[in-house]
Amino acid sequence: MGPESDRPDLPREPLEPEGPRVGVDEWVASADRLQDRPTGVAGALRRAGEVVTPPIQLAIFAGLAATVPFWLGTGDLFTYGIFVLLYVLLGLGLNTIVGFAGLLDLGYVAFFGFGAYFYAILSSDHYGIHWPAIVTVPLPLLDPPGDEPAALRFTPRLDDKLAAARLLRMGQVVKVVVGFRGSFWRTIDGLHDVQFIHVFGRPLPTWWMPLDPEVPRLTGWAGGPHAARLAGKSLVALKDLAVRSLSDALGLSPGDVAPQLESLHLHDWTSDPLSRGAYTYVGVGGSEAYRTLGAPVANTLFFAGEATCGGGHNATMEGALRSGRRAATELLAR
Ligand SMILES: Cc1cc2nc3c(=O)[nH]c(=O)nc-3n(C[C@H](O)[C@H](O)[C@H](O)COP(=O)(O)OP(=O)(O)OC[C@H]3O[C@@H](n4cnc5c(N)ncnc54)[C@H](O)[C@@H]3O)c2cc1C
Repeated sequence: MGPESDRPDLPREPLEPEGPRVGVDEWVASADRLQDRPTGVAGALRRAGEVVTPPIQLAIFAGLAATVPFWLGTGDLFTYGIFVLLYVLLGLGLNTIVGFAGLLDLGYVAFFGFGAYFYAILSSDHYGIHWPAIVTVPLPLLDPPGDEPAALRFTPRLDDKLAAARLLRMGQVVKVVVGFRGSFWRTIDGLHDVQFIHVFGRPLPTWWMPLDPEVPRLTGWAGGPHAARLAGKSLVALKDLAVRSLSDALGLSPGDVAPQLESLHLHDWTSDPLSRGAYTYVGVGGSEAYRTLGAPVANTLFFAGEATCGGGHNATMEGALRSGRRAATELLAR
């Protein structure tokens, strides 16, 4: 057997490729680009964009933008166009700031803020452009005393509305959500199926049991004058009041309850500057006030919110939703 027959069967040497050599990464990228390459009108625009330089692109954009006032007047195109642009703006803002995770943050809110300021500047005396708007804030925000933050000021004043607002009152609610080490109350006789307990005369007179009995959390609730007394109190003061109210409700001593307490969260609608109360109720002579509150002004300002809903639906989610639908219908029909 000669030396030739000792050599194993080796694959034949590859032929030299014609043209320049391409690295694997580069090849994959170019293949992706080819696959992504849009066809039709989108493709033609994309290819045109690659050829036209940025200054010329800007000039074309500015030229087209300058024609907008001539063809975009009022009507459906304007209405839907605004909505589409708003959603595009919000969608882009969301993705730019937080990626596709869908989380909200302050930056996202800033996009709404931008729209609000832009609207306000256009509506000012300087420009006098009055696009329609829906005002839907809690009743006390329409006419708060003094220079409180978030107060709405109407120029000229809406005296009819402010008079109607004074015929309604704002109910007060304070809630304290208390987390415990365990659901220790479940061992107390008679509390197995109870949904809530009233303990009259205590600072937090109502206690809600959790829907899932395994969750070691109770909610203390105070409404009306009780809530007004608790409004603005510190968490430390509330912790003490919560422990004492709850121990009375459960028939235990504060010394039994306090060591179980792990966390305490306060929801104080009365002190919240953006609500200044929980929900409206009708004062003397105020049964028709909702009509005046909900009436449009100059076919430009439209009003929604639970206080503008009649038929006994004020102070509820149902009332808020109905008023929103009514205001939107009025605005679209203007
Ligand atoms: C503790 C509690 C329990 C309730 N329980 C029930 C119930 O069991 N069933 C039921 O049907 N209803 C219930 N309600 C009532 C119901 O939640 C309200 O009626 C409803 O949420 C009111 O909706 P709204 O849109 O009118 O006002 P809101 O939901 O208060 O919305 C008004 C918005 O305006 C914003 N705002 C305030 N000032 C400004 C400003 N200057 N500029 C811009 N925005 C501003 C506020 O931040 C707020 O987001 C309850 C309410 C509370 C507080």
